[in-house]
Amino acid sequence: MPELPEVETIARGLAPQTEGRSITAVHVLNATSVEGRRPLLETGAPGMLIRRVHRRGKLLLMDLTAPDATPPAGDLPVNLAFHLKMSGRLFVYGKETPPEAHTRLILDLSDGNRLFFDDMRKFGYCRALAEQDFGEWAFWNTLGPEPLEIGEEDFVALLRHRRTRIKAALLDQTVIAGIGNIYADESLFRAGIRPDTACNAVSEARLRSLHGILQAVLQQAIRECGSSIRDYRDAHGDAGAFQNNFLVYGKGGEKCTVCGRKLATAKVAGRTTVFCTKCQR
Ligand SMILES: [Zn+2]
Repeated sequence: MPELPEVETIARGLAPQTEGRSITAVHVLNATSVEGRRPLLETGAPGMLIRRVHRRGKLLLMDLTAPDATPPAGDLPVNLAFHLKMSGRLFVYGKETPPEAHTRLILDLSDGNRLFFDDMRKFGYCRALAEQDFGEWAFWNTLGPEPLEIGEEDFVALLRHRRTRIKAALLDQTVIAGIGNIYADESLFRAGIRPDTACNAVSEARLRSLHGILQAVLQQAIRECGSSIRDYRDAHGDAGAFQNNFLVYGKGGEKCTVCGRKLATAKVAGRTTVFCTKCQR
């Protein structure tokens, strides 16, 4: 599943291809790929200008406004939220491009191009939201803070008293948003913290260190356009490069790059977790 760096990369790639264009038509090819109020998407979005493409957690957001820049009113959608889940992709194609087998939604743009939402496994969605809808969207309202924005003190306070295992806390989108299996395992290895340690058993000093390491790992991954495992591609169809920096993710049974011991694999928080029993305590 694309995590924070991958969704950030997609948003940065899509922004110059979509911002400033209006949506001229919406084609829903698979009803279950639309969450929330479908009529709002189909009748509200056409005619609206894509003002900004950005990210919150693992959600890709498109802010829409009326083209004359008057503030949106009533039921006009002010936002499209895409969750790519397992296999969702967003690409801008030329005018003549026909839908593919896995295309679930197409937005026609005023420059003649088309934004495709493809999703082979159909777990992803697009949700159209009027301003008042945000208040009723439980997923949105329970999203935790952004890991690249939270300060060290707040990060420590967030985790210090929790009894859950630290990896479970990092994966919990209501605790902190945007982190998935890759960046949880890579950060915990670099911080020398065993993923199955209870948060409240990790010293404050090591939580401080994890804060800096998590931010550094996420920033490096954004610089390298994310990690391409299986089928993630950015908005230009290019693969990311951070997978070349993996020290533990997907490397169970291989030698630890620091101490040479065989990396262990276990289930933590229901996810396959790779760690070093010597370097992580
Ligand atoms: Zn080791």
